[in-house]
Amino acid sequence: MSNMNRQWRLTGRPVGEDFDSVMEFGEEPIKSPGDGEFLVKNLHLSLDPANRAWMNEGDTYKAAVPLGGVMEGFAVGVVEESKNSGFAVGDTVSGMGHWEDYSVTNGQGWAKSPDLGKQTFDAHLGVYAIVGPTAYFGLLDICDPQPGETVVVTTAAGAVGSLVGQIAKIKGCNVIGITGTDEKCNWITEELGFNAAINYKTEDVPAALAKLCPNGIDCHFEQVGDADILDAVLTLMNEKGRISLCGWISAYNMTEFPAGPRGLLNLIVKSIKMEGFVVLNFFDQMERCYADLAKWLDDGRLKYRVDMVDDLADAVDALHTLYSGANQGKLIVKVQDDPALN
Ligand code: NAP
Repeated sequence: MSNMNRQWRLTGRPVGEDFDSVMEFGEEPIKSPGDGEFLVKNLHLSLDPANRAWMNEGDTYKAAVPLGGVMEGFAVGVVEESKNSGFAVGDTVSGMGHWEDYSVTNGQGWAKSPDLGKQTFDAHLGVYAIVGPTAYFGLLDICDPQPGETVVVTTAAGAVGSLVGQIAKIKGCNVIGITGTDEKCNWITEELGFNAAINYKTEDVPAALAKLCPNGIDCHFEQVGDADILDAVLTLMNEKGRISLCGWISAYNMTEFPAGPRGLLNLIVKSIKMEGFVVLNFFDQMERCYADLAKWLDDGRLKYRVDMVDDLADAVDALHTLYSGANQGKLIVKVQDDPALN
């Protein structure tokens, strides 16, 4: 094994989508863990839309990445060396790590990964680590969808959205997905069982929603923040409808936050609940989530696809695909080869 650690460092605060100019790829010797720490060999790194927001000056739901610091991201890996009694050499662990080959941590924000059973290693980030719990808690705990209800989801073919739609189907709902290509529309209807899909780049979304939701919308899972689409949804929402605010990807690269929807009066007159959430706040309830996700994966009712990037050096280029829509499923960087990767 080489004793060098490849890393991406953040050297400035980006403007718009030009984060390439403030990300620097280099290497330094691998550090050894001190007392209470352990060394993780990172195998898979999750690239997430929110990574861009963490590069900004201001804090979000977590502190901003410090200037000069190694870029942060969710990772899954194997413990190589440990001076922490909670983690043993050989444990598969996941947590808030860094864009690098090897990370030293005191274990804060890290946990042992769930047993994958018959699933392949990419299920750690493809389902369990962030996106599955986001879909699970954001849909079930906030929207509480009931059999026969109509559920609408944006970025419906993405890592979170594709799971949201399938969980809503498992709950017996009529599911409409909104996404950006015909291929994605076909995948979610033909492979994942969504009832219908709308291509927001080529179709009139308000008209399509009105046609596909003759009985109105009961639950909406929002990940984009497009004011026109949100207004169309608000107009069609039924009384006592529930809206889960998960993401606002249309604005992550903007320098000024765009105007929001105008139809918020619907929340009052139709007694609609609209609630935002951060998945990190549900981490004390993971057991029931993992149990359900494992059951649905094993019985074939939950499918996922991953978009695997084979080199850590390509991580910055790959991050752009989340904002162009070129990613096909959960975007993951394979950091290193390892026998654990099956
Ligand atoms: P993803 O959906 O796999 O990838 C992002 C997708 O967003 C793209 O493929 C693209 O799909 C769509 N998109 C990008 N820019 C857009 C724009 N301007 N307008 C409309 N659609 C756009 O990513 P993900 O990891 O599953 O994340 C989806 C959302 O969930 C993000 O907003 C993310 O921040 C949020 N999230 C929230 C939490 C939480 O705790 N609240 C946790 C994880 C993720 P199309 O081809 O459909 O355009």
